[in-house]
Amino acid sequence: MDQTRSVYEIAVEQFDNAARYVDIRPDIAEMLRKPKREVIVNFPVRMDDGSVRIFTGYRVQHNIAVGPSKGGIRFHPDVTLDEVRALAMWMTWKCSVVDLPFGGGKGGVICDPKQLSMGELERITRRYATEIACMIGPMSDIPAPDVNTTPQIMAWIMDTYAMHSGAQAFPVVTGKPVELGGSLGRNEATGRGVMITAIEALESQGIPIEGAKVSVQGFGNVGSTAAYLLQDEGARIVAVSDSQGGIYNPDGLDVRDVIRHKQATHSVTGYPGTRPVVNAELLELPCDLLVPAALEGVIHAGNAPNIKARVIAEGANGPMTPEADEILFKRGVMVVPDILANAGGVTVSYFEWVQALQSFYWSLEEVNGHLYKHVTRSFDQVMAISREKQVNLRVAAYIKAIARVAKAIELRGIYP
Ligand code: NAD
Repeated sequence: MDQTRSVYEIAVEQFDNAARYVDIRPDIAEMLRKPKREVIVNFPVRMDDGSVRIFTGYRVQHNIAVGPSKGGIRFHPDVTLDEVRALAMWMTWKCSVVDLPFGGGKGGVICDPKQLSMGELERITRRYATEIACMIGPMSDIPAPDVNTTPQIMAWIMDTYAMHSGAQAFPVVTGKPVELGGSLGRNEATGRGVMITAIEALESQGIPIEGAKVSVQGFGNVGSTAAYLLQDEGARIVAVSDSQGGIYNPDGLDVRDVIRHKQATHSVTGYPGTRPVVNAELLELPCDLLVPAALEGVIHAGNAPNIKARVIAEGANGPMTPEADEILFKRGVMVVPDILANAGGVTVSYFEWVQALQSFYWSLEEVNGHLYKHVTRSFDQVMAISREKQVNLRVAAYIKAIARVAKAIELRGIYP
């Protein structure tokens, strides 16, 4: 983990690295370096034992020039305002790079869901939703799940918002249960986008997916889904890991069986017929494709020279420092940046919002078909920019994303 700069400072650095290639007014660039609006809330919640605990939460809107802000809510003991700011800014670029009519937002509550009962989790969620109700809304700011937040939590947020407004409010959040207006395919969408972009990248490097060796760090929603979808396409998943550690078998794992093992034992570790690996080692194993799908800052100047993968698809948000980016670009490793590789989730969130606004729901085939078209079109556009400007895919993706948002700000003008 990079200790010298905060995650938000890294996000600003990534913006600056790309903004110099864009014809952008200096005042607009300055506007985009800072979030538009940030709210800190401290709120009491009654715990099961009768005591009252004060929780802290955040909601940040980075930019809303092209549409309402959109971004997940994270429940984690290490959530900070700085991290939420960075994640909100990344959401602006992510929505822009795949041409969604959304700006970027993010939220979080400092808590450890593993230590909470369902009742406590519900009361925290409903009170946090009430505290940020002044910001969220179907046409202003639309939350979604992120680390440790689930469709059930989205249902509670939607219900709380609806109780306060006295009207149904299905489009106020995405990632809801399908029974409450959630979209088919949303649960798999981020991993599916990782799979699609990873295959495009491998093919551009002349590496067929059939038999390609893949390591996946993080075996939650994104990592495990990407792993089994890649396996379905013919890839050989040789290593996976979670917070407890990793497992390695150069002959390949049966991903769906590893999922069953994790469901039964709460970890991938101890899966029969594998060698244990620690998370740092997993990143450096011999493979064609590496998918970091856990935390920020795991690939840095210290380990980038040792990475053997020829393609990296960033399932997680911000898994790589700018130094690592540069080292890997020079070494010819293709990195599909987070704002493109994991944009499948927000793309299907957009489909969910559209379906909820129209109360007209699509089949799974329609959802996956639109997702495929959206993601591959954006991938091709980013590749073209990368070739034309001779920059890596991250800078190319940022160029596309920043240019669209900057133009929208210019056209809207400065109020008043
Ligand atoms: P999740 O909570 O479902 O899974 C996270 C996984 O990472 C778990 O398996 C956990 O055990 C593992 N992990 C935690 N600490 C680890 C460590 N030190 N080393 C290795 N593994 C570790 O979360 P998720 O929804 O899969 O999100 C993962 C990443 O993807 C996050 O960066 C998130 O912001 C990003 N992301 C998620 C979505 C989405 O739709 N879920 C969309 C875009 C981006």
